[in-house]
Amino acid sequence: MRLILATHNSHKTEEISVLLSPVGVEMFSLKDINYHKEIEETGKTLEENATLKALTISAVVDDYVLADDSGIEVDSLNGAPGVYSARFAGLPSDSNRNIDLLLEKLTLDSDRSAQFRTVLVLALKEEVIATFEGVVRGKIAYQRSGSKGFGYDPVFVPDGYKISFAEMTGREKNNISHRAKALDRFITWLKLKSQ
Ligand code: IMP
Repeated sequence: MRLILATHNSHKTEEISVLLSPVGVEMFSLKDINYHKEIEETGKTLEENATLKALTISAVVDDYVLADDSGIEVDSLNGAPGVYSARFAGLPSDSNRNIDLLLEKLTLDSDRSAQFRTVLVLALKEEVIATFEGVVRGKIAYQRSGSKGFGYDPVFVPDGYKISFAEMTGREKNNISHRAKALDRFITWLKLKSQ
């Protein structure tokens, strides 16, 4: 299967391509197909944004297209920042300011339960073929710890752990992350389909 990943983020393309090559998927980035336009993320949900990106690219290629959108959802903030995670504290996007704002919004007695969620949308010729979701539950810490990872990693402590995502190795995080879980579901779907 030839698959185009609808992202300009080469780190993501590389990471996903490593996971998908053993299952016979040949992955291409937007750069590989000479698509250089920005795809505006105007959706109000992760699902809407992933769908928008997948359909936009599937209108210009004949191959399968996979698009993703992720965010952190805090229960006591009614799921915020969610789809606005990258620009929670405004543009340009700044992880440090985003974390400061999140910690400010949670008081000492707030429920700090939260989750990271990824939505993957697979499209072909302007039609959504399937959607896959991955969730990792955890708590927002009272302060930052660790220096690995990115985004909200320093303040997210997954359930069952005493350390934040930013204190884990890439491999440890990849074993339990929202993105890995969503990709796992996609891989299971691919395997079933090719039987
Ligand atoms: P994206 O859709 O993967 O680009 O994620 C959007 C935003 O959600 C990022 O800019 C981060 O702020 C946040 N985010 C998503 N996944 C993670 C993660 O694994 N760790 C930390 N922050 C994340």
